[in-house]
Amino acid sequence: MDDFISRAAAIKEIMEDAGCDFCGLKIAGCCLSCSAGKKIIRIRQMPAADVRPVVRGQWEPCPILDDARDKFYKCSVCRVVTSVPHGQNIIERKPFCNCGANMNQREERKKECAE
Ligand SMILES: [Zn+2]
Repeated sequence: MDDFISRAAAIKEIMEDAGCDFCGLKIAGCCLSCSAGKKIIRIRQMPAADVRPVVRGQWEPCPILDDARDKFYKCSVCRVVTSVPHGQNIIERKPFCNCGANMNQREERKKECAE
């Protein structure tokens, strides 16, 4: 799977490494007097990926709504209430809310630790 980074952050990093703020030839953000300018132009020409930030949420228990058959939970992002039968794990049954929030934060932590 591809990793996605910020174009502006990558350009800022290249400019800091090359010392562009101290270069007398800097014009409109970069110049072509060293390899930094060429790298910046290539990064600016790269196609943008169609991505959006991951929204993370949690299923908050709503014990006052529980009945004999179901346990109820509220999305911490959109506040919509959902339910699962007693004895079932809410995160396993509904790892994403209908609003798109990712509720499975343990999986994300596992991935981060594995890297
Ligand atoms: Zn939601």
